[in-house]
Amino acid sequence: MSNLSATNTAYWSHAISSWFEAGRSDPDEEAMLKYIREALPQIEGCWTRVKDKLKARPSGGLSCARQLFLADLGYQDEPPTEAAKITWAIGHLLHGWAYGCIVSGLPEGVRFEIEFTRDLPAWWPIEREGFAKEGHTDLVLRRDSDTAGGLPPECGLNVLVDVKSSYSKGWRDYGTKDMTAGPDGFGYNSQLAVYSDGGELYDATFLLAINRDTPASSKVRVRNVPNDFLAEERERLIGIFAQEGDPGREFQDRWEGAGMFYCQRFCGKRRGCEELEVV
Ligand code: SF4
Repeated sequence: MSNLSATNTAYWSHAISSWFEAGRSDPDEEAMLKYIREALPQIEGCWTRVKDKLKARPSGGLSCARQLFLADLGYQDEPPTEAAKITWAIGHLLHGWAYGCIVSGLPEGVRFEIEFTRDLPAWWPIEREGFAKEGHTDLVLRRDSDTAGGLPPECGLNVLVDVKSSYSKGWRDYGTKDMTAGPDGFGYNSQLAVYSDGGELYDATFLLAINRDTPASSKVRVRNVPNDFLAEERERLIGIFAQEGDPGREFQDRWEGAGMFYCQRFCGKRRGCEELEVV
């Protein structure tokens, strides 16, 4: 991955946000329907999907070293709570809608690609049972030339964008808070750390946050995820793949007790984790 300057990542953030708004105010009906329809099976899958047997994907099961340890012991994931299902379903709907908005607003010379299947980096333990064999990027934007989209040549050609939706407080945090300095149980960082290495490399990586409360009127917040942070996250992942024995409540330890919200509501291994504490 190249290292774009802060100025050039800011150009991209501004451009992506503007393209989204242009498409939202003047949507291409066909594109909107296409991406909303594509979201429907995923929405239904929040209630019907049989739990994926894989323990680890770039986007899940890697928040905590203990999740992998429990999976190796044979602990299955807990069924998702009703709160988790409806949260994910709304997320899928907003993903589809955001894709429709962005593609509607793209300028000439900028192309859009979603759910692209890509190779995983050499350090990903592809040979281990229970690890995903391929990855899927959320959204990649590609410029056909180094002047396309009104961005300067120094902005590079291809960027990776991970789309998220969040209620108002979390959405505000995307604009101001250091997103790399708090618990990330939902695996945003691990996913981006994997996809920013190996296979095709991108010029920069962004998180795009939609406000779940007011999606039709709030701006999207588009934040660059720094390369040095992604490199640190890769080191953490390589370390947990190599670990032996029970790492304890690694997620909680790493964040000095913060992150209970994720542990209690969303971690698929929460019961196993509690059982291990009393054995
Ligand atoms: S409940 Fe928390 S500490 Fe326990 S395995 Fe899950 S993420 Fe790790």
